[in-house]
Amino acid sequence: MSRADDGIVVVGGGLAGLRCAEALRKRGYDGRVRLICGEHEAPYDRPPLSKELSRTPAFLREAGWYPDNDVELVLGRPAKALEPARRTVTLAGEEAIGYEKLLIATGAGARPLPLLSGFENALPLRTVADARALGAILAPGVRLVVVGAGFIGQEVASAARRVGASVTIVEALELPLAGLLGVDVGRRLVRMHREEGVKVILSAQITAAHGDSHVEELELATGERVGCDAVVVGVGVAPAAGWLAGTGLDPSGVLTDPAGRTSIPDVFAAGDVSRPFDEVQGRHVRTEHWEAASRQGTAAAAAMLGDSPQKPPPPSFWSDQHGHRLQYVGHADIADEVRIDGDPDARDFSALYLRRGRPVAGLALDRPREIAAIRRCIADSNRPAPNTKETDR
Ligand SMILES: Cc1cc2nc3c(=O)[nH]c(=O)nc-3n(C[C@H](O)[C@H](O)[C@H](O)COP(=O)(O)OP(=O)(O)OC[C@H]3O[C@@H](n4cnc5c(N)ncnc54)[C@H](O)[C@@H]3O)c2cc1C
Repeated sequence: MSRADDGIVVVGGGLAGLRCAEALRKRGYDGRVRLICGEHEAPYDRPPLSKELSRTPAFLREAGWYPDNDVELVLGRPAKALEPARRTVTLAGEEAIGYEKLLIATGAGARPLPLLSGFENALPLRTVADARALGAILAPGVRLVVVGAGFIGQEVASAARRVGASVTIVEALELPLAGLLGVDVGRRLVRMHREEGVKVILSAQITAAHGDSHVEELELATGERVGCDAVVVGVGVAPAAGWLAGTGLDPSGVLTDPAGRTSIPDVFAAGDVSRPFDEVQGRHVRTEHWEAASRQGTAAAAAMLGDSPQKPPPPSFWSDQHGHRLQYVGHADIADEVRIDGDPDARDFSALYLRRGRPVAGLALDRPREIAAIRRCIADSNRPAPNTKETDR
């Protein structure tokens, strides 16, 4: 049973967890706040890991912020279990700590590729420890294979080219991200990588991995063999929800209302581990983006203190590749039409996604003002859509 001084426990020292702790103090909460971190580092930012292959953590707050704000950091002690009936979380080392209110903010972990498990040079990229392991291998001329051309895979390919590595992307789809962003955008991204010297193999099925402790060659269904000194596996992430077994919470994304409340009293969830109800789409949606994790952590703090969070803006993210900034806003997955503006041969374009003629999403390369206009357009259904050329979805 919780005691009055158990206060608020935040499990997961990432962006969502930190934002919750910050918002609790900003709102004047003066009870105990504990931030339980599975990693040995205080909360840090993940985007620099793939954009800069950064080996030192980009801390979200300097060390003094935690004592100054009376936030207790518990490092390197992952939560092992949640017992809602006793209001306790058990940490590694079997210590059980009580809570009055709890935030689940354990993020997500990289999905493994069974064919590559056990090889020392086949790495995920989710943590600073992963970035250090990759950085120790990468050097000019090193052959890096990136499996999966999602945003993180594409960013790693771009950053590895900058250090002079010889990079191959192996992607199972005909075009990367085409299901979400459309074939035209997928083609432009592939062209950009190829122009930068990245070999891109599409519609590729990996059938075998050869090597002893280190993978040396990937074999594809076509019989092609791709030699490698290192492999980055970027085939998506799964919620870090294993420690919630037995609670009834959904391991494929903890369901919450728009404020982050779960079905368990006084238990909230935010960030990549959560699947909040999205009022625009009328369903629970898991978002693996920085802006959403930040906003959801703040919203959960408001809900814990009895306030209603503001209506969320449309989801958005950015990605940096080969010196260009790609920005996205909205819900392209519900679009039935894409309009592209910009020369297909130039790295300067925007895409407007419409549903029944109304803008629902936008994407732009190096056009921040256009993204801002599209964002306003999505929010204001009476505003005319920016003028763009129609293209296939
Ligand atoms: C390499 C990379 C690049 C990215 N780039 C972009 C980008 O350009 N734009 C964008 O919008 N988004 C980007 N993202 C996504 C964005 O960083 C995430 O959406 C965001 O970090 C999610 O925050 P979170 O707090 O939910 O989870 P996380 O940041 O994953 O934090 C969760 C924390 O909980 C810890 N944890 C896990 N299990 C336990 C446990 N049992 N007990 C205690 N602690 C635990 C984890 O170790 C981690 O420290 C990127 C992500 C990565 C990995």
